[in-house]
Order: sequence, then structure tokens, then C-alpha cells
Amino acid sequence: MNRVIIAGGGIAGLAASLAFDRAGWEVTVLERAPQLGEVGAGIQLSPNACKVLDWLGILPAIREHAFTPATADLRDGLSGETLLSVPLGPAAEARWHAPYLHIHRADLLSVLAKAVERRRIDLRLGIEAVRAVDQPDAVSVHLSDGSLLAADLAIGADGIRSALRAAINPDEAPRFTGQTAWRALIPAAALPGGTIPRTATVWAGAGRHLVTYYLRGGDLINLVAVLERAAWTEESWSAPGDVDALRKAFDGWHPAVSALLAAVDTCFLWGLFDRPEQVRWTSGHTALIGDAAHPMLPFMAQGAGMALEDVPVLVNAVGSGSDIPAALEAFERRRWPRVTRVLQRARANGRLFHHPPGMAQWLARTPIRLAGQIAPGLAAGQLDWLYGFDATQG
Ligand code: FAD
Repeated sequence: MNRVIIAGGGIAGLAASLAFDRAGWEVTVLERAPQLGEVGAGIQLSPNACKVLDWLGILPAIREHAFTPATADLRDGLSGETLLSVPLGPAAEARWHAPYLHIHRADLLSVLAKAVERRRIDLRLGIEAVRAVDQPDAVSVHLSDGSLLAADLAIGADGIRSALRAAINPDEAPRFTGQTAWRALIPAAALPGGTIPRTATVWAGAGRHLVTYYLRGGDLINLVAVLERAAWTEESWSAPGDVDALRKAFDGWHPAVSALLAAVDTCFLWGLFDRPEQVRWTSGHTALIGDAAHPMLPFMAQGAGMALEDVPVLVNAVGSGSDIPAALEAFERRRWPRVTRVLQRARANGRLFHHPPGMAQWLARTPIRLAGQIAPGLAAGQLDWLYGFDATQG
């Protein structure tokens, strides 16, 4: 039986463990945290991501915890003007053959973890993968307790600070993108009903934007508030946020935004980092997936989507495990163009959302506004390449 060692028990690592177990591999997952968990925040799962969750057999369980937004909207943060509205809900399922969902990250992790529990997957908590060393026909993974595991394949699903990435790309490190994000969860009951629309909404403004959407049957509102900054000076990658600073950054914004910010009790602040994209994700018997391979700005809501898409492509490429180095190269060739396109779109969205008022903003927004007014179906069509894609096929 082939053996795979997966470093990281996040979304990418757990999804990969389920897929490799089903493909008949002996699977070990190493997670450095003492228990599985995620940050207290929401996540958007677009149809391309949901197709992978369906393929893993867990979409029904995900749906039980999810909220389905009616539309995805781009609005001006000051005036509230809707620049663009893409129908989601049943229209998303009809167009892209899978739902567009919002879910609390803890619920997503718990569905994945329960599925892992039901399989013969060796999940080891509180232990780190330190590095992977390639051998002619195998790979050795060094662990933080000094022990060594041998396998046919090592997968680095260990996030943006990946330990396994270091051996493949020794001379590069995460870079601060100039963007920071506050995250907060607000009970919907704290606001008069209808203040925040039941949509996935981006509120755009000069050098900053806000994202609002509902979770858990509409009981919680998820807030992500992005602000450009010259530098990230915190020691950690995330820190408790200052609610007053958050409110000040969006002072004078649309009344719905102000009401939401007034209801924020606690928040966290994140520095948003990425890595150079002209690098290798595979070498010998080691492959990187998810944020370990391609961390990206969250402005397309696709980081986890790309992590999930990696999984079927990797499992299908490796197959029964006869020539793993060649299979990993094929995986990388197949994934790189699509992931890079998404990553660059996410960066471009940052520029689009953050234009200051003036000619450049008018020029950037006019085609969007016109498309929304003249041919509303056109906007959905622009997303077919992304949401219509099915990584489980072929
Ligand atoms: P991670 O979630 O980082 O998981 C890595 C795991 O590996 C962790 O559990 C960690 O403890 C463990 N680990 C690390 N090092 C080691 C080691 N050496 N040994 C063992 N274990 C290790 N994506 C979307 O698709 N939709 C969204 O709406 C969305 N919104 C976002 C909003 C914000 C503000 C941000 C910052 C990101 C957002 N993303 C979104 C991106 C998404 O969160 C990430 O792309 C996704 O979580 C990556 O999952 P991962 O499993 O690859 O990495």
C-alpha cells in the first residue's frame, strides 16, 4: 500500500487526507496545533469549491451549517450605490452546478474532522513536520519530536509559513502585501433587521474596503475590513484589533456600515502576506498544496477554493503511485495557470476596490456599472471560468 504523509490539518490537509484515503493510500496527517481548529470567522465557498466538497461526500453536511446569499454585490462604501449585483442562490446552482455558500470556519473544519474520524486516517495532533528530504524512491519527513517517517509522497498543506516549502524554494519568504484586514463576527440581533443585506457585499472606498455576509442561518454577520498600510509592525501575523481604530478607518461610510461597526465588540487584525508565484510547488516526492503553494490576497474569496481544487487534481495525477515525481510535475503544470490567474485577479480586485474618488475611479467603475445595467447576465458570465470549473473531472 502506498503511504502519504500530509503536513497540516487545515482545509487543504484534511481534504487531501480524505481523498488519498479513498484512493486506497495509507494516510498520516501531522498537525502542529494540539487540536484541530480555525480562526473565529466566516468563509465563502464558491461553486468550484463546493464541487470538490461534493466529490469528497461532505457537501450535504456543509449545507446543514451554511448560509446561502441571494447575490454578490459591489457597492460604493460611502453612498451605498450598487455598482454590480450577481445573482447567487438558486441561480448560482443552475448556472455553475453547485451552490455558493457561506460557512463559519469552525463548522467547515468540524465537518472535515468528523469525516476524517470515520476513516482509517492516522491524525497526529501537536506534532510538527520540520522538513522533507527526498530519497531516490521515497521521501523522509522529519518530525519535531526527532522521529522520522518514510513515505512514497509528502504533501505540504502547512499554510503560508510552510516548513516543507523551504526545501523546494530555500531563498524566499512571505511578503507583506501592504494590506491589513480586521475580522469580526457580529450577532445579527444587535442590528435592526435588514440593516445589512443578506448578500455577499463588498463595500468599496479609497484605500480600503469592507466585506459583509451572514453565517449560521443568518444569526451572525461576518465582517472583513481591509485597509492599506505602509508596513506590518506587529510581531505576530494577527493581533487583537482596536475597535476604535476600525471604526475610525470607515468613519462617514454608509449608514449600514456605520451601524454594523457600532455593534462590533471585539475584532482581530491580520497582516495579509503572499509569496512570489514564480516558484516550484513540487520536487521529487514532495508536493505543496493550498496556501503552502499559492497564498493569495482574499479579494476573490478563493484561497480555500484553490486549496480544495488542488486535491482531486493531485490525487488523480498520482493515481496508483507508479511514477510520483512525474505525476507531481503534471499536477503542477495543470494547476499553475489557473491558480496564477485567480491570484492575479485577486490583486487586481484590490486596485479596483480601492480607487480614490476621481477620474481613475470613474473609469474603472463605469464599465462595471454599465454591464450591470445593460446586461446583468454578463457579470455572471464573466465568472463562468472560475465558478463553472470542476476540478474533479479529468
Ligand atoms: P492553513 O489554513 O494555513 O492551514 C495550515 C495548517 O497547517 C494549520 O492547521 C497549521 O496549524 C498547520 N501547520 C503549519 N505548519 C505546520 C507544520 N510544520 N507541521 C504540521 N502542521 C503545520 N478563502 C476562500 O476560499 N474564501 C474566502 O471567503 C476567504 N476569505 C478569507 C479572508 C481572509 C481575511 C483571509 C486572510 C483569507 C481568506 N481566504 C478565503 C483564504 C483561506 O483562508 C486560505 O486560503 C485557506 O485557509 C488555506 O488553507 P490551508 O489548509 O492551505 O492553510
